[in-house]
Amino acid sequence: MKKRLFIYTTLIISAGLLCLFAVSVSITQGNNLNMAKSTVMEAARICAGLYSDDVDLDAFVKAGDETRITVISQDGTVLADSFPLDMGSLENHLARPEVRDAANGSPTAHVRHSETLGIDFIYYALKVEAADGHVFIRAAVPVALINAYLLRMLPPLVILLFAVALLCLALSRSVIRRIIKPFESVECRLRMLAGGEYEPEPIAGNYAEIETLIRSIDEVTEMLQKSFEELRNEKTKLDYVMGNIGDGLVVLDDNGDVALINPAARGIFNVTPEIMGKSMNYLTSERALLETVRSSMNHYEDALLEIVIDGRIFLVAVKRVPDTRMTLVVLSDVTENRENAKRREEFFTNASHELKTPLTAIKGFNELTAINNKDEGIVKYIESIARETDRMLSLIVDMLKLSELEGTQDVNPVPVSLSKAAGEVSDNLTGILTEKSVSLEIVGDGEVAAEQGHVYELVKNLVENAVRYSNQGGKVSVIIDCEKGETSLYVFDEGIGISPEEQTRIFERFYRVERSRSQRSGGTGLGLSIVKHICALYGWKLSLKSRLGVGTEITVAFGEQ
Ligand code: ADP
Repeated sequence: MKKRLFIYTTLIISAGLLCLFAVSVSITQGNNLNMAKSTVMEAARICAGLYSDDVDLDAFVKAGDETRITVISQDGTVLADSFPLDMGSLENHLARPEVRDAANGSPTAHVRHSETLGIDFIYYALKVEAADGHVFIRAAVPVALINAYLLRMLPPLVILLFAVALLCLALSRSVIRRIIKPFESVECRLRMLAGGEYEPEPIAGNYAEIETLIRSIDEVTEMLQKSFEELRNEKTKLDYVMGNIGDGLVVLDDNGDVALINPAARGIFNVTPEIMGKSMNYLTSERALLETVRSSMNHYEDALLEIVIDGRIFLVAVKRVPDTRMTLVVLSDVTENRENAKRREEFFTNASHELKTPLTAIKGFNELTAINNKDEGIVKYIESIARETDRMLSLIVDMLKLSELEGTQDVNPVPVSLSKAAGEVSDNLTGILTEKSVSLEIVGDGEVAAEQGHVYELVKNLVENAVRYSNQGGKVSVIIDCEKGETSLYVFDEGIGISPEEQTRIFERFYRVERSRSQRSGGTGLGLSIVKHICALYGWKLSLKSRLGVGTEITVAFGEQ
């Protein structure tokens, strides 16, 4: 900028000085001409005053020094001329403009080319009365004389011009420096600001015009420095958290490029920090993960999936970050959890099997003892042993059913009649129905596609609960509904009901509302868990409505069958 300003100023000063030079030369030339004209006129006037009829013409014309003096008769003949000429060859001068003007009584100075001498002259003539009429006294000065004056003036003028030019340039240079200096200071501050090493310092010199600007820069800088500091602290915290978090964390921008990745995620995907800014395709080739992330980005919705990387199972949560166009991918290693759950299930199944055999033996021996013992006191114990072994056996049977359901991946569905299943359940519950004088009605019919055993188990557990938790002499209804192509099973009872707080928990295994009462009624605490697992296996919708002391309604919606 400084250089350009200097060039512009130099050009402007040079142009100005050249114009000044041209104008002053032309004014000087004009003045010289006017002065020369005045000299010529004055010489003509003096000569006219000195002229008389008896004057020696040759001596008269020579008195003009540098000025050419010509005496012309009234008929235009040149009588004498101060310049050495051949008088005889001179043409008539009456037609000369200066002579003509003098004859007309309005003498005027003329600049014109002399045909006689071949150079330019300034001419002026006056009409002077003489004895035999009049003569014309003409004075003339060569124009070259004026130019000679000018040429003499020129060298000092040019030197002056250069001196002025140099002075102007030196002055403009210093002025430019002074003007630029505060801006350089502003520029230096901004550069320091960009480099993050800003140290506000007073500007040398008095620059009131930009002081406000400097103050604003200092204020903005202070604000920015504070914000940078806060951001640095936040980043340090974030880096610490990201670095110490066990889960893998990846933040993707709107294009699916990696915006942030923590060390755990780098370890999972086996990538270096250079992955930052690169497409997620460089992160993993796991198709399910890439497709889920892309779909989540396109549809602005969260997603959950499970993937296996290098033999480890990861639960992946894909979340859209609110108010941003970012997507967060969190990878939790659930391999251990899954293995523990598998081990627990195996233990559950093995323990159940191991317990079932000795219990069956105890039950058999107890029955044998009952046949051979009629002693009233012993019979009481034998009946108690029989009740407890039956309860334990049904518990073990339910445990085995549950673990079998948990391990089931595939099913072989066949059309199963719901009313037929309910009828079978009713036949098998005759004992308890009679014992509690509960009436059971089965209304409607419909088929579901499932394994027969699963349908029976589901209906049995629901109806058995309804009967078990009915009051003496109560009523249980099983309604099968096939409206609008959708099949549903409703099991109603008018029993003790379930409080709202318990309703969310009764599907947990071994959860019982009133342990002692449920135990007395012969339940195992696994019935509704089995129902829940069967529904989950087929994707059926299980719902519950209940009011304490009024009754319970459990619905299974099978969907379109
Ligand atoms: P249980 O074998 O003890 O009946 P379930 O898993 O079938 O176990 O039921 C869990 C608990 O839910 C029961 O102990 C009981 O307290 C409650 N429950 C289940 N069905 C009903 C019902 N129809 N009316 C009232 N309470 C019920």
